Amino acid sequence: MNAAEPTAGPMRVQGACHCRAVRLTAEVQLSRVFVCHCTDCQVLTGSAFRVVVPVVPGSLQVQGAVKGYPRTADSGNVRWQYFCPECGTPMYAGTPDGAGLATVRVGVLQERALLQPTAQLWRRSALPWVNVMDGVPACEQQELLG
Ligand SMILES: [Zn+2]
Ligand SMILES: [Zn+2]
Repeated sequence: MNAAEPTAGPMRVQGACHCRAVRLTAEVQLSRVFVCHCTDCQVLTGSAFRVVVPVVPGSLQVQGAVKGYPRTADSGNVRWQYFCPECGTPMYAGTPDGAGLATVRVGVLQERALLQPTAQLWRRSALPWVNVMDGVPACEQQELLG
């Protein structure tokens, strides 16, 4: 496989939390990158939406101790949200035995600029201003903060 053509087949990604106590690697498909607008994701990220990428089953490898928080969906399914206990960075979701689908938070990955979303989930709870960013005054750094 040609590394210069990441659209062909699974791509290897790597990431770390903000304090770098937790690191992970996985294989992902560029054709499956999801934005989730559900209200749980808004609260758990402290932001407008979450961006996740499912990993190829069995490919997720984590170094460092993570802490898990069980989230029970409306369906009754429980998914564990894993984060760094030192800095709080959300890292991935899955099951304690590793058997269920694991999804990694795109923001922790070095390759995040390549992981363009391919679908939006739970659009019905999307924040009403989520599409207006192009019209909001912008600056290269934080000149507008003052
Ligand atoms: Zn950390
Ligand atoms: Zn969600």
